[in-house]
Amino acid sequence: MATGPYKDGMPELDADLAAGAPADTGARAPAVRARDLSKTFLQGDTEVHALRGVDLDVRRGSFTAIMGPSGSGKSTLLHLIGALDTPTGGTLEVGGVRLDGLREKELTLLRRDRLGFVFQFFNLLPTLTAIENVLLPGLIAGERPARRAERAAELLDLVGLSERAEHLPAQMSGGEQQRISIARALLREPDLVLADEPTGNLDSSSGDVVLGLLRRIADEGQSVVMVTHDPLAAGRADEVLFLRDGERAGEVAGGDPERVIAFFHGLAA
Ligand code: ADP
Ligand code: MG
Repeated sequence: MATGPYKDGMPELDADLAAGAPADTGARAPAVRARDLSKTFLQGDTEVHALRGVDLDVRRGSFTAIMGPSGSGKSTLLHLIGALDTPTGGTLEVGGVRLDGLREKELTLLRRDRLGFVFQFFNLLPTLTAIENVLLPGLIAGERPARRAERAAELLDLVGLSERAEHLPAQMSGGEQQRISIARALLREPDLVLADEPTGNLDSSSGDVVLGLLRRIADEGQSVVMVTHDPLAAGRADEVLFLRDGERAGEVAGGDPERVIAFFHGLAA
């Protein structure tokens, strides 16, 4: 028998990990429910209060934008929702599951099976082609490569990049790379897609394509939470939540960039 991390060409899986994410407690549970959520970092002897008691509800199938000045806690909030970091206070449920009740392994499964991540700098693997990058989450989850081949091809088509399947990231524009990273995030049909400044490095027309894809994901029933600086991007969401100094500073219904801009300028003042 083969030894090492691969046998039969497949990543070897822990039996617990192979069993899948913790059971969903109800199809009607909100995508995200946070109560009095806080996060304090220690920097040397100094406490940095990145989040100070935030409440948040994200409906299933909705597109929520989080805005706020730099340092207001946006990325911290997204990282907590994505189970990439743990809160220091309050409660957080994702898809009806309380994260503080989960062990490290269960958190790994939640990230792997329920969540999709889109980053500002795309984070594609430079030595893999576009289609291989899209297929990667399936391989990491221990699936046979053929299982998602059709889905990956459909996703490349969805993001309009079928003809780029064999290209390496360096051979694609930023906008194209971000569309590939969205296809990658969707491969295993996550309930919730988390995006941190997904248009932050794109020109406005590429950004528009990416926002259209995120909008479509939510319209098709998955949920999206996006951190953004851009009021036009936030205007594409159903709801815009503003943070300031780690606290909720207000919210504005989406679809109205003018109101988002006005609110944002009010915050900065
Ligand atoms: P935003 O995404 O809105 O710019 P962040 O959530 O990244 O804000 O940061 C909020 C605050 O928490 C900032 O003061 C930041 O310096 C601090 N912070 C974030 N991550 C860490 C960390 N790992 N260690 C210490 N301080 C951090
Ligand atoms: Mg940030």
